[in-house]
Amino acid sequence: MTKEEEIPDWVGAQEFYDKYETKEVLGRGVSSVVRRCVNKRSSQEYAVKIIDITPSDKMTPQEIKEIREATVKEIDILKKVCGQNNIIQLKDCYESKAFFFLVFDLMKKGELFDYLTERVTLSEKETRNIMRALLEVVQFLHSQNIVHRDLKPENILLDDEKNIKLTDFGFAVQIKPGETLKEVCGTPGYLAPEIIDCSMNAGHPGYGTAVDIWSSGVIMYTLLAGSPPFWHRKQMLMLRMILAGNFDFSSPEWEDRSDTVKDLISRMLVVDPKQRFTATDVLNHSFFSQYVVDEVRQFSPYRRFKVICMTVLATMRIYCNYRRAKPVTKEVIKSDPYAVKPIRKLIDACAFKIYGHWVKKGQTQNRAELFENTPKAILLSMAAEADEPLHHIW
Ligand code: ADP
Ligand code: MG
Repeated sequence: MTKEEEIPDWVGAQEFYDKYETKEVLGRGVSSVVRRCVNKRSSQEYAVKIIDITPSDKMTPQEIKEIREATVKEIDILKKVCGQNNIIQLKDCYESKAFFFLVFDLMKKGELFDYLTERVTLSEKETRNIMRALLEVVQFLHSQNIVHRDLKPENILLDDEKNIKLTDFGFAVQIKPGETLKEVCGTPGYLAPEIIDCSMNAGHPGYGTAVDIWSSGVIMYTLLAGSPPFWHRKQMLMLRMILAGNFDFSSPEWEDRSDTVKDLISRMLVVDPKQRFTATDVLNHSFFSQYVVDEVRQFSPYRRFKVICMTVLATMRIYCNYRRAKPVTKEVIKSDPYAVKPIRKLIDACAFKIYGHWVKKGQTQNRAELFENTPKAILLSMAAEADEPLHHIW
């Protein structure tokens, strides 16, 4: 008798249900469902990821075996990264023949994805705080030769103070120094070009940690612009855009963004992984240099005078620009409302309020369509979505 056969079907599940009471669903994945749960003794709330490996018509024994192995790997990595500030903590873990139960700290504020949908776009300051925490986590993972491979706003959760916690280590893998990966996995919009290249070219040398920097660049772009850098309704065309590194800062959302932040994104979304910034390079970029108020207080009288002059000049420039600005008349608003910035922001915010629930996650992310912003475009996309089955590329 093998060890697996010795384990009665229900032992792990029974232990879990003895200790916890499960509540509503918080999220779903391909073979998992995440629910809120409560520890019966302490009344403390947690989140439990229940991975179902019950033999069924939907899954072949081979698929079940793969999910089981992948889950064991996920638990192993979660234990290795335990104690890191911005990584979700695995609190408890149970295994039975048909189920895995992974108990985590509960993140009541949910996903960064939903937070962004609610806010439409984030400021540079908020983006800086989120990205600094994310890149510090990525730097730590890469120092351990761990590649996450599925960085995206759905896998970044927010705690009560809106600090980020990276989750979903389902695709994460620890490689040996110098080892490369060939397996195609991740989420289309966030896939690094070398992963796509690898899937099309048998002689490809493989990919490594740099794929996480690419995905982080996609996340950073999306936080600031509201829509992703690479998106096309036809997935093949989107993949081509990624392979060519074809993105720009032409949408109106970028008008107010600094050159520093655009420079950093451009160094993360570099097609050649060898030329791409590493996590350490990103954290050393001037976008992350903090403005320390104490430094201003220590200015010499000469530097203080210079700062005052610059402030006066900037104020005058703002005033002159204001005087030169064309008045917003009813005609302007009627003929081209989207050209007027406050109205544009209002339209975008309304579009997200009305259609935000329809912004899809993962494979079919269509956040970009909400920025196309004519009622007709939105209705057409909804109609197309209803007709078209979801295409999975792999
Ligand atoms: P999958 O591998 O199936 O994508 P995840 O671990 O990403 O599973 O969890 C799926 C979703 O469940 C997340 O995107 C999130 O919405 C929700 N979720 C996961 N863990 C937690 C948690 N600790 N607190 C709150 N929600 C969570
Ligand atoms: Mg996930």
